[in-house]
This record gives sequence, structure tokens and C-alpha cells, in this order.
Amino acid sequence: MGIIEASRTQATAPRADPLSLSEIVENGLCIGCGLCLSIAVPEAVEMVMTPEGRERPVASQALDREALARINAVCPGTRIAGTPPAQVSQAALMDTVWGPAERLVLGRAAEPTVRFVGSGGGTLTALGQFLLSSGRVKFILHVAASQSMPMRTERRLSFDAASVLEGAGSRYGPAATLVDFNDILDRGEPFALIAKPCDVTAVRNLARLDRRVDEHMRYALAFVCGGASDLTKSEQVLQRFGLSEDELTLFRYRGHGNPGLNRIETRDGRAFEISYRQLWEDEDKWMIQPRCKICPDAIGQVADIAVSDAWLNGGPAVEDEPLNGIIVRTKRGLELFDAAVEAGALQVRRETGFAELSELQSHQVRKRRAVWARLKGMAIAGKPVPFVTDLALRDCASQNSLAENLAEGRGARDRARRGRLGEPPAASRGTVLGDP
Ligand SMILES: Cc1cc2nc3c(=O)[nH]c(=O)nc-3n(C[C@H](O)[C@H](O)[C@H](O)COP(=O)(O)OP(=O)(O)OC[C@H]3O[C@@H](n4cnc5c(N)ncnc54)[C@H](O)[C@@H]3O)c2cc1C
Ligand code: SF4
Ligand code: SF4
Repeated sequence: MGIIEASRTQATAPRADPLSLSEIVENGLCIGCGLCLSIAVPEAVEMVMTPEGRERPVASQALDREALARINAVCPGTRIAGTPPAQVSQAALMDTVWGPAERLVLGRAAEPTVRFVGSGGGTLTALGQFLLSSGRVKFILHVAASQSMPMRTERRLSFDAASVLEGAGSRYGPAATLVDFNDILDRGEPFALIAKPCDVTAVRNLARLDRRVDEHMRYALAFVCGGASDLTKSEQVLQRFGLSEDELTLFRYRGHGNPGLNRIETRDGRAFEISYRQLWEDEDKWMIQPRCKICPDAIGQVADIAVSDAWLNGGPAVEDEPLNGIIVRTKRGLELFDAAVEAGALQVRRETGFAELSELQSHQVRKRRAVWARLKGMAIAGKPVPFVTDLALRDCASQNSLAENLAEGRGARDRARRGRLGEPPAASRGTVLGDP
């Protein structure tokens, strides 16, 4: 069972036998990115919304070993790698937990509407718009609320600034960003991806097999990610107000302020709001997907630029100053960042450092230090774990005490043995995604 590396190298080889799709899902490794569907032969895989509120792939015909090996090579549940060293300059800052950084600042979108509508400070939206206006790419691949079912999230191709802005804001539920990624490569046009770190991991994995990825995907930008929740989490918000999904015209998780309100609007003109704190007040009801609990790179080392929240007062009020942490990871990302600042698309408020990031994102630091032991615990329980390289997981774990690592490892082992890190077999609630 392949597990983990020391610092920048890999310690073991990837698994000899590829996992089936159902093994990936049932062992809690799938995040529902959709890339397996995109690279499989047509009709071989479909995505379903499960009763738990997760988008999951189901093989509708037997996949041969070659197809499964290809899926295992690209799936962000089975293979996860950090930044290739060649993409980082000698001058880059380096931190065991946070990885490489060419530049670390607090900043935001310069355009007031973008920073208001955006999730934190609108940095990702401003970068997406700048990529289009500067002619660097033809379109942005990201996500946005579904027009017909606004609590659901769909992948979006944005060819202009207005469309990029429509996708602004965090979508906390399931989001199959890569469900037609192969078709997007077939377009043969330069584009940028704005997505979760695991989505970027998936396409970086695919780049090893398909040279069109590096040819056409010019930039990959990510947000620092605490985890994707089940759709059931959003459904609980509806229950709170006695609403059903088919009544909705808007379901905005946040944005329109930093973080802004979770706002719901209905066809008959009613509006409902709860604060970010109310949405997330009870950790037992976060309903974060299993893959997220063992995420080795929720901080987007794999991206050219990773963007985080930056709540300087220790947590979000309802309306904080629009602001992001901006971690420029690669040489390519630095060139883009400098050009966006120079063109007036981004504002830098001030430099920051790894110590401040760790204060602002203490949950990410805890997770980075815990993942190595959690994966060990799962492996000891006989469960498959992802093959991870270049993410310094062991070094992160060494910042924990032996007792802490033992507690994490034993906890994961015991939960894995009880099946609590896995998922039920993927089954549809009854509607195949994409059906009208
Ligand atoms: C599930 C989730 C968990 C998060 N956890 C953290 C955290 O722990 N710490 C932290 O600092 N920040 C976290 N964020 C990120 C934070 O909410 C902001 O999105 C981030 O700081 C970028 O802000 P922005 O103003 O630049 O984003 P915006 O300018 O609003 O742009 C956001 C971009 O992200 C894309 N996007 C939104 N949701 C998704 C999704 N589910 N999948 C793929 N792409 C998506 C949008 O299409 C848009 O292009 C999380 C976001 C999400 C969606
Ligand atoms: S994480 Fe993505 S590629 Fe892996 S099984 Fe799930 S949907 Fe498929
Ligand atoms: S925590 Fe990791 S696996 Fe979960 S959504 Fe975020 S990047 Fe993906």
C-alpha cells in the first residue's frame, strides 16, 4: 500500500493493482471532481447525486484494467503531488507546512464591485478577469450556481468579465468542476482553471498523461480550502426556513461582503439570510466530505497562486474589510501576479509571512501536521490511501509530538476499522446529474 514521502521525494511506489471506482468511493477517497467521467469512454461512467448529498461516479459498464490504471493515475483521491521543484525559483520562500511561496501578501481586487461580490476580497475573480482582458487566455474554467437549481453548483466556462463575476463567491457544497475536462482540452484554446486544490491536483495528474493540459491550461489558481460539504448541509439550511429546493431562485453561500451572508431567495419574492457564523456554528453539522479529512494539500501548493481568507480579527464578523491572503506559488504565478498589480487589477495591502498565515489559518496548520499519521492509521487498518509525493507530510508530522501523532494515527485506524472514514456505495437519489 503506497504511502507518503519524506520531504521532497517519494518513499514508495504507487499501488500495483488499480482501485476500482467503487473502491475509491467506498474508501472515502473520492471528492467528486468528475475527471474520471471525463476521461472514460463515453457512457462508461456517470455522476450521481447520492442520498448523502455527494456527487460520485458510478461505472455503468465494466472498466478494464487499463481504464482503471488511467483513472488511478489522475484521480486526486489516489494520487496527490506538490509543486514540481522546477516551477519554483531559487529565491522562493519555503515553509514545511505552507510549502513554497514566491510572494506572500494580503491583498484584494482593485475594482470595488469585484471585491464586494467576491468571497473574501475578490482576488480570484480579479485575476480571472485580468487573464481574459490581457489576452493571456480565452476562457476561465471555474464553477457557478446552477441557473435552474441555484443551490447546486455547475462547472462554468467564462469568456468575459461579467461571467467570471457571476461565478464569484464560495460554493460550499459538491462541485464537479472537471466533469467535461476532456472536451475542454479538445477546444485547443488557452484557458485558466480557478478551483479547489484537489481539482488542480487532478489536472496536474492528467498532465503527466496528456500533454494538451500543459499546452492549453496556462494557469491554475486555487483557494485555500477547509473542505467541501455535502449538499445535505445546504438542505439543512432550507429545512430551517421550511423551504424546498424547487422554490429557490438564489442560494448564495457567501460573498457580497466579506464573508457576507448566506442568502436565499424564492420564486414568490421571499428572502432569508443567516450569517457565516450561524452557517458554521456547530462543527458536528459541517458535513465535510471524507476525502477532505485526509487532504494533504488543502492549501493549494499545486496551484500557481493560492488565495485564502484573511480575517485579521481572529474570525469573520458579518462585514469585514474585503481582503485575501495571496500565496504566489510558482514563477508563472509571480509573473501573473506582478502583471495584475501593475495593470491595476489587484491591490496589495501589505506583505505577510508564514507566521501570520499560520495564525489566520490555524485549522490548516493542524491538518497539515495530522495527515501523515491519519494516512498511516488508515493503512494499518488495511485501507487504501493516496500515493502522495512532494508534500513534506512526514516533516509536517514531525512538528507534532509523538503522543499527538499516535493519537491521530490510532484515531484514524479505529475510525477506518469501524468504516467511519468510508462511504456507502454510490447510488443515485434518483436523478442523474445533467438530466433536465
Ligand atoms: C469549499 C470551500 C472551503 C473553503 N475553505 C477555506 C479555508 O479553510 N480557508 C480559507 O482561507 N478559505 C477557504 N475558502 C476560500 C474562501 O472562501 C475564498 O473563496 C477564497 O479566499 C478566495 O476568495 P476570493 O474573494 O478571491 O474568491 P472569489 O473572487 O469569490 O472567487 C472564488 C472562485 O472560486 C470558485 N469556486 C467557488 N467554490 C468552488 C468550488 N466548490 N469548487 C471549485 N471552484 C469554486 C468560483 O467559481 C470563483 O471563480 C473555501 C472555499 C470553499 C468553496
Ligand atoms: S475524485 Fe474525481 S477522479 Fe477520483 S473517483 Fe472521484 S470523481 Fe473520479
Ligand atoms: S479539503 Fe482537499 S479534498 Fe476537500 S475539497 Fe478542499 S482541496 Fe478538495
